[in-house]
Amino acid sequence: MSVSNLSNRASTCFFDKDAESQGGQSGAASDQRWDLSDLYASADAWNEARLAAAAGLGALADYEGRLGESGAVLADFLTAYFDAQKVISQLYTYASLAADQDLRESTGLERQSLIQGTASQFGQTVSFVEPELIALGAVCLRSFVDDEVRLAPYDHYLSDLIRQQKHVLTDAEEKILAAASESMATANAAYRVLSNADIDWPRIELSTGETVLLDASGYGNYRQLDSREDRERVFRAFFEKHHQYRNTFATTLQGQVKNHIFSSRVRGYDSCLERALDGENIPAGVYRTLVQVVNDSLPTLHRYFRLRGRMLGIEDLRYFDIYPELVDRDLVYKIDQCKAITLDAVRPLGNEYVSSMADALDKPWMDVYPREGKRSGAYMAGSAYDVHPYLMLNHHDDYNSLSTFAHEWGHAMHSLLSNEAQPFAKASYATFVAEVASIVNETLLSDRLIANAEAAGDDETRLFFLTEALEGMRGTFFRQTMFGEFELNIHEEVEQGGALSGDKLTQMYGDILRRYHGHDEGVLTIDDVVCTEWGYIPHFYMNFYVYQYATSMAAAFAVVERIRREGDVARQAYLAALSAGGSAHPYEILKEAGLDMADASVYQAVVNRMDEVLDQVGALL
Ligand SMILES: [Zn+2]
Repeated sequence: MSVSNLSNRASTCFFDKDAESQGGQSGAASDQRWDLSDLYASADAWNEARLAAAAGLGALADYEGRLGESGAVLADFLTAYFDAQKVISQLYTYASLAADQDLRESTGLERQSLIQGTASQFGQTVSFVEPELIALGAVCLRSFVDDEVRLAPYDHYLSDLIRQQKHVLTDAEEKILAAASESMATANAAYRVLSNADIDWPRIELSTGETVLLDASGYGNYRQLDSREDRERVFRAFFEKHHQYRNTFATTLQGQVKNHIFSSRVRGYDSCLERALDGENIPAGVYRTLVQVVNDSLPTLHRYFRLRGRMLGIEDLRYFDIYPELVDRDLVYKIDQCKAITLDAVRPLGNEYVSSMADALDKPWMDVYPREGKRSGAYMAGSAYDVHPYLMLNHHDDYNSLSTFAHEWGHAMHSLLSNEAQPFAKASYATFVAEVASIVNETLLSDRLIANAEAAGDDETRLFFLTEALEGMRGTFFRQTMFGEFELNIHEEVEQGGALSGDKLTQMYGDILRRYHGHDEGVLTIDDVVCTEWGYIPHFYMNFYVYQYATSMAAAFAVVERIRREGDVARQAYLAALSAGGSAHPYEILKEAGLDMADASVYQAVVNRMDEVLDQVGALL
């Protein structure tokens, strides 16, 4: 496991919902804070544990050249090896949680840099392990696993290593690749500096007389303004700036695409997509089926846009009309209400799930409210295997916060179930299944709130929840797949010998944007200026990542639908998938639970649900 893997483990959901804005709720009660002493009694105790972990690394080094001696020796080693990873994960969790409580404190940064040092020392110490295991070969490793019962927790790790063996190069070649990795990070780093620091983002005056800065976060805040003229000016100013820098944006993006191509070719993959999916052993059919079904289902998305136009009273819908809320509802959800509502909503997951969650909610595992210096956004950190999950929230007492609460608790319950059922080496689950657990809970919450509003005869509130659900399907299912399709197009363009200039990217993105939004059918007009949006999306640098939001939503809807239809059998299958953690490949885990993510019917279920919700909204108008 590399250093970066270890740091990723510290937060399963590291770029989850970002808080749109900060404010309010200073001086929150201390029972709304997490208790880090469950991890270490004090900062000093943390440091002692870190020094002890570092001192223990020498014992791992002694195994170099010995892993093939016998199954017993290999079991001794792997036990110590994974124990060390477990300890470092816990040290990492403490360091990052403590730092996120107040980013202004330099001790937090120092602690993170100390544990990074220990982790990198670990990485260097164990760099012999995987080449040595691969050299032993499949036959030898399999016979060790068959004969030595203590190797059972590591069988998936070992077989996965063998599976990927054909893409591992010689020692000398691997060293060259490792040495090149730092310079290959430049394209992404340059993109981030350009968009976050160097560009002089525009300021515009709104119709209220207020002057606002349109950097990424300003754009996020002002793109949903009620005034249509203001929205148009926000979009124009923000994307004209991207047009101005299109050649530099294109250079960094093309640089990143070429990195992906280089890595896939030297490792013997046929394409970047194949390499990106191979890490978790996901069939390429998953990606292509998703894109195909979404393209076939664009009439449903267009139906939503037409409804949006109708509700906003706009006949000539344009790209800047996508974000304003359709129903204005000031719903307040204090944290205790969030607990009660979410517990009620997840009842379809069974008594055991509910009571285990109820117990967890009473414990000091969450940092609930925003305060000065605290990290923004929300995440769940589930990799302190021997302790428990922690949740970072920035709760604003509104619906969005309630939904985030249910989402992050979906992750926390997944970690609880997986850590309980699996040994450490099999507990950490892949992103491909992680977002299923969170979106299932969000979906159950949405269903519950819609049903409650219906029971109360409150049509306006029901309409609010229904339109929020539609917006979720647009943003997570259709938009992320659109990104995924663009990502595939630009990689294939360069793989086939083409080049990506700024204007070329704008044309490619514009084509896809117009198709998804029904430009030619007169559904929603895409002006030329917004076709530089590709420069604004950091995920295009992440090597085929975002499609998993769309697949996860599809899997989650299928789970909820099946539990509703089939009851206990479907519930047990789903809980078993959560408990499976990382004991198998994520595609297999979902398939075992009855969800074949390479089959079109899973994605069709999202479209059917969206059509149903559109019918319900239509009936209320
Ligand atoms: Zn998440």
